[in-house]
Amino acid sequence: MDKENLLTQPVLSLKGVGAKVADKLEKIGIKQVQDLLFHLPLRYQDRTRLMPIGSLRLQQECLIEGTVNLSQVKFGRRRSLLCHITDGTGSLVLRFFHFSKSQQQQLAKGTRVRCFGEVRSGPSSLEMVHPEYQLIDSEKLVPVESELTPIYPTTEGLHQLSLRKLITQALSSLETGVLAELLPVNTNNDLADIPLKDAISYVHQPPPDVQVEALLERSHPMQKRLAYEELLAHQITMRQLRNKVRQHEAPVLKGDQALRKQFLADLPFALTHAQQRVTTDILSDIAHAIPMQRLVQGDVGAGKTVVAALAVIEAVSAGFQTVMMAPTELLAEQHYKNFEKWLLPLGFKVGWCAGKQTAAQKRDVRTALEQGDIDIAVGTHALFQDEVVFNNLGLVIIDEQHRFGVHQRMALRDKGRQSGLMPHQLVMTATPIPRTLAMTAFADLSVSVIDELPPGRKPVTTVVVADSRRDEVVERIKVACEQHRQVYWVCTLIEESEHLQCQAAEDSAEQLQKALPNVNVGLVHGRMKAAEKEAIMQAFKANDIDLLVATTVIEVGVDVPNASLMVIENAERLGLAQLHQLRGRVGRGETKSHCVLMYHPPLSENGQARLACLRESNDGFVIAQRDLEIRGPGEVLGTRQTGLPQFRVADLMQDQQLLADAGELAENMLKTAPDLAEQLVNRWFGHKVDFGQV
Ligand code: ADP
Ligand code: MG
Repeated sequence: MDKENLLTQPVLSLKGVGAKVADKLEKIGIKQVQDLLFHLPLRYQDRTRLMPIGSLRLQQECLIEGTVNLSQVKFGRRRSLLCHITDGTGSLVLRFFHFSKSQQQQLAKGTRVRCFGEVRSGPSSLEMVHPEYQLIDSEKLVPVESELTPIYPTTEGLHQLSLRKLITQALSSLETGVLAELLPVNTNNDLADIPLKDAISYVHQPPPDVQVEALLERSHPMQKRLAYEELLAHQITMRQLRNKVRQHEAPVLKGDQALRKQFLADLPFALTHAQQRVTTDILSDIAHAIPMQRLVQGDVGAGKTVVAALAVIEAVSAGFQTVMMAPTELLAEQHYKNFEKWLLPLGFKVGWCAGKQTAAQKRDVRTALEQGDIDIAVGTHALFQDEVVFNNLGLVIIDEQHRFGVHQRMALRDKGRQSGLMPHQLVMTATPIPRTLAMTAFADLSVSVIDELPPGRKPVTTVVVADSRRDEVVERIKVACEQHRQVYWVCTLIEESEHLQCQAAEDSAEQLQKALPNVNVGLVHGRMKAAEKEAIMQAFKANDIDLLVATTVIEVGVDVPNASLMVIENAERLGLAQLHQLRGRVGRGETKSHCVLMYHPPLSENGQARLACLRESNDGFVIAQRDLEIRGPGEVLGTRQTGLPQFRVADLMQDQQLLADAGELAENMLKTAPDLAEQLVNRWFGHKVDFGQV
């Protein structure tokens, strides 16, 4: 470490930092002076201009000035002081729940006030609740601030003002200190020409002439310069992770071609081109001694299972065990049934492993797995348990990856390592993840896309209706059933309570049966025993049930081509991707299919946009992209388990192009400048590379 360089000194070297503050700083990842420079503002407050009250938008944080024309204390549920102010362009209410006598006197009629706060909608007009305010002497010209105020991520007991002061100190060290420029000279993006030093100073202390809007929207080139570097650092970590895995040796899986041919010949259909292409990707991966790390994306019904089966056949006929894991018991069971049907005739032994088995059953399966008497184990996360030991695991297949964490994925792969070989890994997801997200969350995986549906699938016509029109919907069901078609009625989750959801499904089933006496109504929900669920599903499949009332458990479930109508109750509660997956259960047969999205009014603007998107598109990728725009990445992938890092300045939504450029450059740097790459990672993720270590 360079002793001369102020930037690499511990934060204790700064004025005003003792052990206590240093501890707090460490909590937010700040150890050295230069870490403060990379502690970037989350957002900015704009106190540089007075906004006309008539121009305000909801949720806007802004500075306004006006004259009090009415000040009164209201005694409602809560006593509050309401000051009506006006600036000639409009009026607004300042609302205080806590106020002193003197405050009340200060804010009397005729007083001029300047306020900073968030604009909200009140009972009769726009409001600011407990704004910061300052009384203004109308005779004098009181200047506004000249710079935007940065707001930093912080921790309890560490105030914005203290952080700002420390960062100002760090910025002055920047003048004399050495902040290495780590981007290579030739990059694929002009942003790299902006010196790092300039970008850092700019975003912490934007100059008075800054284009405020650009900065507030995070589209300013100085922010983009930093985002580019941050994304680059992230892409490097993901590639390092990938490379680490690639240093292990995997079994070479070259199976029996005759078996594969026999399997394909026995299938009642031919593979689509997309299925063939993806199968080729996989088979060529596993024929090498480098562990495969591949993600297969395919829309609902694209036919991922057959592709998985082909990989299984290759691995097992090469003499290795495989495991296929799914997130729910119902889905796992369906795979199990499929694999039995397809693979028993080839002489393979298929085993079942799930949480709900008896202790004796579990023991038997484990013994069989350990002794190599089972070729393919299918099951749920029960397969993760420590007691489960494989004989010679060669391939791990995980369906619906995003519901498992990256950690779980790694844990399962590690199970295969007793023999010193690392198993290949295939991850399948029905959630069409927009490319950018895939590149980030799954940047350690190669991606293959099954972008073609099997022939004969017809797009589903979707309508959006308020639940006040329930009777019409019921009538529609009646007509469909009279035409010997089958119908799904899906009840959605109420406040995250499975119990309530099941109750709602029971109620709906009862009501529908009353309204439709000639229709056979079946009910399936999450709290039923697996055998009961199975029986109902089988009855629906066999056309003994006309109308299946279900909770969202059918999302990943069954394949019933005769079902051509789906009604989703309270559709506004579900994410777009989930709705799209549910809808994929219809439209699999000859007849034209319909999906009715029923919502409970009033529907928010956002809610309207989301349901409209489903009405307008049947393309999972389009829908996923829209979902990303409306809800943001964390939500789309299911929170927490995403493996997505918290970026400081980058924004996956806005920076899609940057991400692509960063990926390319990361690849390049790891080859040509690995030491710079390492330094970049340390700079941006140094103390918390946890997400990369998984
Ligand atoms: P998903 O990709 O959603 O997992 P599945 O693997 O469950 O889809 O396949 C959906 C249905 O399509 C199954 O009934 C499957 O047998 C059928 N299928 C798969 N591939 C083809 C194909 N190439 N042609 C016709 N039907 C197919
Ligand atoms: Mg599937």
